[in-house]
Amino acid sequence: MTDAPTSLPGWNHVYSGKVRDLYEPVDPALAGRMLVVASDRVSAFDHVLSPGIPDKGVLLTTLSLWWFDLLSSTDGGRSIPNHLAPDHTIGRELIPAAVVGRAMLVKNLDMQLVECVVRGYLTGSGWAEYTESGTVCGIRLPAGLSNGDRLPAPIFTPAYKAPMGEHDENISFDQTVELVGAEKAELLRDLSLEIYERAARIAEARDVILADTKFEFGVDDDGVMTLADEVLTSDSSRYWDAAAWRAGTTPAERMASFDKQIVRDWLAANWDKQGTPPELPAEIVERTADRYRELLGRLTGI
Ligand code: ATP
Ligand code: MG
Repeated sequence: MTDAPTSLPGWNHVYSGKVRDLYEPVDPALAGRMLVVASDRVSAFDHVLSPGIPDKGVLLTTLSLWWFDLLSSTDGGRSIPNHLAPDHTIGRELIPAAVVGRAMLVKNLDMQLVECVVRGYLTGSGWAEYTESGTVCGIRLPAGLSNGDRLPAPIFTPAYKAPMGEHDENISFDQTVELVGAEKAELLRDLSLEIYERAARIAEARDVILADTKFEFGVDDDGVMTLADEVLTSDSSRYWDAAAWRAGTTPAERMASFDKQIVRDWLAANWDKQGTPPELPAEIVERTADRYRELLGRLTGI
């Protein structure tokens, strides 16, 4: 693993996921807050790969903050509560220099066990299931769809967030109800579809297709279902070039992507998914970094 969690003054390291490192404050006066630090690590097929993608942590944090800010405004929708600590801007001095630009000061939430995936287009594991059964997460779709097609309407296709080291698993809405109860399941579905549709409209205005995305929610101390984790980044989403999608003749041309599809494709062609994945070639790393940078520029102008 590249870019191992750094020890940060004022913060205790509590957890490392595949991509992010979580820290809790040493100072009891800051209890309830957390520092989420995005590394340059890249994962595919649930494996962390080597080397990392230069500046990925900064790019994805910048993009997440941009979306959180936009979604919390009432511009084009209602304000969506997010996990950024109320003092996250003035709290900047709490963020250690070593991780400035790739850390978010957040509220520590009671995270839900369901990953809230929304698909507006058919590809990836959704496409794989559709070719087998004509369904995605139990939702029946029209016959005759191709890889990369736009769906008649966006669908909520949740996944069970497996414990560290296990693979997340697509589940049906009924299984979601079993996991979190009917009320929460409906809330998660409705919020996810609402945010996806709003974000997809914003992306489309910049000639980018938000093909699918994954949200994570947690409940805050006041019981509010809150948008957490990273949001609408090129790690949690598939973004395609809309012009290429319209003009593309092969699925690969159509799905010209601003995400880690380059990494997934290279790995699928060069690894049998047994044992340790091979080192990514420099060219793949550079092309991926370029795509991440281009997405940030297109969406935010940054
Ligand atoms: P895993 O946790 O299975 O390794 P992952 O690889 O997706 O999953 P990362 O994305 O690297 O993990 O780590 C981020 C972790 O932080 C996730 O487990 C996510 O649920 C958690 N998280 C994000 N936001 C919050 C929050 N506000 N409060 C508590 N936990 C959070
Ligand atoms: Mg994650």
